[in-house]
Amino acid sequence: MTELVPNRTCGSCTACCQYLTIDAPELQVMPGVLCSNCELHKGCTIYGARPQVCRDHMCGWRLFAIFDDEWRPDKIGVLVSVVNGLSPEDYSQEGLDLLLTHPEIALRAAPFTKFLIRAISARVPLFLSILHSQGNLPTRIFINPYLEEAAAQRDEQGTLTIVKAALSSLAKMEAKPVVFKYKTGT
Ligand code: SF4
Ligand code: SF4
Repeated sequence: MTELVPNRTCGSCTACCQYLTIDAPELQVMPGVLCSNCELHKGCTIYGARPQVCRDHMCGWRLFAIFDDEWRPDKIGVLVSVVNGLSPEDYSQEGLDLLLTHPEIALRAAPFTKFLIRAISARVPLFLSILHSQGNLPTRIFINPYLEEAAAQRDEQGTLTIVKAALSSLAKMEAKPVVFKYKTGT
């Protein structure tokens, strides 16, 4: 069983129920649309009976102590999820997807930049994602190669500049439409 950080609870955060793309036989949720089972800032109204796909979601903030309280997804505007099998071959296959739900908040948060420098220096595969446009999947970029030099120099301003450029590229990328494998989404 996956170990969570002790005494860390979701509180009033409902970010994963609003920003993830969920496509399972029992539930489909568009990215950026609050799940119909969720009460905003309160949580899941069917928590005890929530689908397996929700039980399986690996929230980085709840899993890793490296993220402190400021990293609660609704506070920092970043939803961290564990992803597998997306990295280039010369990186570990387990990485982190940082979905910037509120880039303007994340970019002002010192812990965000500090984490990037630390993780990139440790060769943790990092992906930056943004919610692109309604009805479309988030766009995503593997950010490590772009940040390695700035991270090696502990250059916070340089790191931020590169992240801003990456976000701008993500906004211009063509996004794929959400096509649910199962029935019509909520
Ligand atoms: S994003 Fe993480 S902290 Fe927020 S509601 Fe989901 S599991 Fe809880
Ligand atoms: S079913 Fe519950 S846990 Fe799953 S996305 Fe909806 S509100 Fe969140």
